[in-house]
Amino acid sequence: MTGFGQTVFLNNYTPAADIAVISVCYVMVILMVFSYIRKTISYRIFQMIVPTLIFTAAIDICFNVASVKAGLTLPVYVLHWLYHVGLFLIFNLFVLYIVEVAGLTGGRKKLVCLYAGILMIVCVLTDAAVSFLGPESVRESGDAIRQSGVVFIVGYVVSSAVCITLMRLVQRRLYRRVMLGFYSATFLSFLIIVIQYLVSQISFTCLSFLFPVIAMFYILHANPYDADMGTIDGTMLNEVVQYFHSKKKPFIFFSLFLPSVDLERAEFPDSVRSLIRQVSSKYFRGSVMFHVGHGHMIMLFPKQRNADYEHRMSKVISVIEDQHRIYRYDYKIVAGQSMDELSRRNEYLPLIHAIHRSMKDNAVHFVSPADLKSHDRSIYILQQLEDIHKTQNLDDPRVMVYCQPVFNLKENRYDTAEALMRLMLDETGMVFPDQFIYLAEENGYIHTLTEIILHKTCEEIRRLNATGYEITRVSVNVSMMELKDEHFCEDISGIIARSGLSGDKVAIELTESQSESDFNVMKAKIQELKEKGITFYLDDFGTGYSNMERIMELPFDIIKFDRSMVVSSSASERSEKIVSDLASLFNSLDYSVLYEGIETETDESMCRDMSASYLQGYKYSRPIPIADLKNWLPKKAG
Ligand code: C2E
Ligand code: MG
Ligand code: MG
Repeated sequence: MTGFGQTVFLNNYTPAADIAVISVCYVMVILMVFSYIRKTISYRIFQMIVPTLIFTAAIDICFNVASVKAGLTLPVYVLHWLYHVGLFLIFNLFVLYIVEVAGLTGGRKKLVCLYAGILMIVCVLTDAAVSFLGPESVRESGDAIRQSGVVFIVGYVVSSAVCITLMRLVQRRLYRRVMLGFYSATFLSFLIIVIQYLVSQISFTCLSFLFPVIAMFYILHANPYDADMGTIDGTMLNEVVQYFHSKKKPFIFFSLFLPSVDLERAEFPDSVRSLIRQVSSKYFRGSVMFHVGHGHMIMLFPKQRNADYEHRMSKVISVIEDQHRIYRYDYKIVAGQSMDELSRRNEYLPLIHAIHRSMKDNAVHFVSPADLKSHDRSIYILQQLEDIHKTQNLDDPRVMVYCQPVFNLKENRYDTAEALMRLMLDETGMVFPDQFIYLAEENGYIHTLTEIILHKTCEEIRRLNATGYEITRVSVNVSMMELKDEHFCEDISGIIARSGLSGDKVAIELTESQSESDFNVMKAKIQELKEKGITFYLDDFGTGYSNMERIMELPFDIIKFDRSMVVSSSASERSEKIVSDLASLFNSLDYSVLYEGIETETDESMCRDMSASYLQGYKYSRPIPIADLKNWLPKKAG
């Protein structure tokens, strides 16, 4: 019996190249099965190309072997035809793939697909007509093979022209490096075909189709693993949640967040990387770990395959606690079971973020139905904020101004107040700032809220003035991120001007920021608005990382000492001395000092002795609707 090695095939054929194609495609199938690749439509088309290529290469081998063993019989011609059908089909899938990757839609998409489809059908039918539908004598003489070869070459050239024209048409829609990658791989394919033709070879046709396939796989569907940590790119989390949800498989999620790594936008330290690698592979069956953000990892694993997951989870937690004792990286752990409602909306990440905000460092939180309820509430609040932002109604009744009167020690009366925002929503009733300011900031709605509060505050000051009440000014809280908007100063002065008030009736409260660029922005904006007479307060002094040098460079008028300074002063003499010295330093530099959070007589008398000019707190008044502020104000004489 002769093996392949001794067999003499038609046209110098050797099966080595087709065997190589099948093997490489087989490896690609393995990679596709074991990778986490986003299952886009283009990827699904790609998934069809690989088996088609395997099929085509296998048919090519079968045809060549059969033609030697059985001669040029009808079934052999059919095999030859099938081989060509496979190749034309790959061309067609290429076209569909390019259309999808380039995002062609509507009429252009239909036109290209129709054209490629008709071309394929014409090629395939002509090929069938010349190779096995004709007279037997033509088949036996081998002429049919030659004619079919000509049909194929013509079809190949036209199909290649279609692909290249299409690629040139869409090249502006794709990243240049991607196009260059494609072009380079395609060039190699043509080179192989030309060389093969010049040396009267036919073995490398399938191989020439393999190069663009490999290029596509790597360039557009690279696997998002971090092999070092055993994590997968966070964008895949939604895909896997959807998969579990569609298969109705309950799963457990386990989130590990390291705030300091997140804050510094740093890489994970080596010790943590090896810990994560271990956790992602060792403790749970079928687990997948996602790297969802700086310092944040989420692991999912099927509940059914991990019956003892509670026990294992406590082991993992104790490993993390041990590591914390050694390396002192703060952590937050959130864990829980899949919930249909969350899976359907793919909202594990927002829920975990919300829980992080309310939990302490170095703690573990198991998600309960109550968390889901409060998450739903946040979603509702966010929708309302979005609507408030879209509506752009400065009188929106959902945004309410409360205020807290501030006691002026020198004048011995209330002459200023701080405006504090509340939301009044149908489904939740009153919502306090800690539940919505962060949502408004994160989603870009905060400036709209500030505009509404400022407008309503100005209206109330105007009413108070008109009815004879004395009010020096009211301060409004503004978020740092708003200052970065180039129209900020314009918006603020526009609202004040439209209310007919002078700028000195309004003050703006800002908190410190650590970033150098924020500092420069803040300085420029404060200077611009001060020219309109607006007063500036530095809010929450003593809560963050105070940089005295920078504070002194900013033209604030009043420094608001946070309640925490009042609390610590009454707790220790040493703190009292520090706070008192700081306050008198500010005083000597012409800043006024306001103490926030005065709750008792003792707080008050202590702050009076610590260079206070203003006092604010529950001792005087809780926040009240701004319409009630008049009850705290004296009437103008006469
Ligand atoms: P803040 O600007 O430091 O406002 C003072 C907060 O302390 C207010 O809380 C007030 O109700 C509370 N407070 C007043 N007196 C006392 C007291 O004696 N003891 C204690 N423990 N607390 C007291 P509120 O209204 O919940 O506001 C919280 C924070 O939300 C504000 O802190 C401010 O940062 C922010 N915020 C409030 N309204 C607005 C707004 O219109 N815009 C922006 N961007 N932020 C706002
Ligand atoms: Mg404030
Ligand atoms: Mg404050």
